[in-house]
Amino acid sequence: MKELGVIGLGVMGRNLVLNLGDKGIRVSVYNKTKEKMYDFIKDEVKGQSVLGFDSLEEFVSSLERPRKILLMIKAGEAVDSMIGQLLPLLEKGDLILDGGNTHFKDTAGRVDFLKGKGIHYIGLGVSGGEEGARNGPSLMPGGSKEAYFLVEDILLSIAAKTDSGPCCTLVGEGAAGHFVKMVHNGIEYAMMEGIAESYDIMRKILKLSPVEISEVFENWNEGELNSYLIEITGKILKYKEKGTERFMVDLILDKAGQKGTGKWTAESAFDLGIPAPTLSTAVEARVLSFFKEERQFLSKRFNRNYPKLEYGKDEVIRNLRESLLFVFFNAFVQGLWVIQGASKEYGYQVQLSEVLRIWKGGCIIRAQLLDFLREILQELDGEKLILKSDKALKYLMDRIEAIKEVTRLAKDFYIPVFAHNTALDFFFSMMEENLPANLIQAQRDFFGAHTFQRVDREGTFHINWE
Ligand code: NAP
Repeated sequence: MKELGVIGLGVMGRNLVLNLGDKGIRVSVYNKTKEKMYDFIKDEVKGQSVLGFDSLEEFVSSLERPRKILLMIKAGEAVDSMIGQLLPLLEKGDLILDGGNTHFKDTAGRVDFLKGKGIHYIGLGVSGGEEGARNGPSLMPGGSKEAYFLVEDILLSIAAKTDSGPCCTLVGEGAAGHFVKMVHNGIEYAMMEGIAESYDIMRKILKLSPVEISEVFENWNEGELNSYLIEITGKILKYKEKGTERFMVDLILDKAGQKGTGKWTAESAFDLGIPAPTLSTAVEARVLSFFKEERQFLSKRFNRNYPKLEYGKDEVIRNLRESLLFVFFNAFVQGLWVIQGASKEYGYQVQLSEVLRIWKGGCIIRAQLLDFLREILQELDGEKLILKSDKALKYLMDRIEAIKEVTRLAKDFYIPVFAHNTALDFFFSMMEENLPANLIQAQRDFFGAHTFQRVDREGTFHINWE
């Protein structure tokens, strides 16, 4: 019988254990707070083969060699502390998997450290939240093939399934799994921001009620925009507070949290020198939302001259749909470019098409668009920049008038649309042979003797500008 040890019975750990149990895998579990383990075995385990242990020694001894232990605990120091406690109990050839949202650099350090001790280590990206963990998440393991083969069948069995197979593959070497999961979340931030901007325009310019906007999203979910995030947005918008006629969305304070992976994606893009403005601006928009008191104060001091809306409702909604596709597409283009940059820099050897495949089910960014992106990548024959494909360019150019209208409309009505603006500016910049970076180079050379290159001669130049 296949078996796995799981440490950490929080939201994710508990649901993954039940999912493993459903697939006939024997699971040994351990949790720092013992009562939670006892409660879990008593209340939630129903017919699955799950054994609970309140001592780490007994937990490890219950596993056959090579032991395979999945950590589903808080990322950071807790993981180092747990590895420290496990090490004296493990033997060469055993495997630890970290399924938390760990920073990929921490994972890289742990892979190296444990390699020296003969212990395999997999940084396992897990997406899909509680529901995904229970019924089939998207799994993004990274590490050596040898380590992956120890758990491949187990991971494939619990992953979400789509018409393209189970949503799990070895995404690459070293910390590739956590890197890819991080960028998944960065793309998620951008998609959510784009959706929120569409909602804002429908609410404030078209004056639609939440339930009317919900119908628009439901309708969009039937077509090219079909995705998990569009689907849940439709559900959220029609949800009324229990026992009242008030829409829940109107009762929620407009301060958006951000726990780190979006920020890490933006930081990584900067570190790698890869442009990902729509991903990073989505983090900025959340950070800005936190300044509620300041916004309240300032909003009363800003006079707006609203123009007359020149378009009909249906036309605005049509443009919003096409624009959102433009935003989604560019978010994926940027995210994949960041992964490609990291793969080159850190030697991950990521297959982008496989990443798109395993994002098709179980995860938060699953979307119909992924099939089209895979088709483009397959046609590109080794070239990874999706924008270089004729199909991709046509797709975006077919939507350019729509997003120009939407961004114009947003400005006319004083509505911030960070994701739409950056997606369009990213596209314009990539389509432009001559950017004003020549002037910036001149300024840098003027005040800092940073030197510049010339278009007409080889070499590096500096001028005494005065
Ligand atoms: P959670 O419900 O807050 O549970 C946290 C778990 O970590 C608990 O079992 C807790 O044990 C354990 N823990 C905390 N500090 C520990 C330590 N020092 N030593 C050992 N165990 C410790 O968290 P979760 O939502 O299940 O998430 C677990 C991991 O998965 C996190 O890294 C999270 O970022 C990641 N993740 C979460 C989601 C999601 O949607 N929630 C999705 C993907 C990935 P006690 O019960 O004893 O406190």
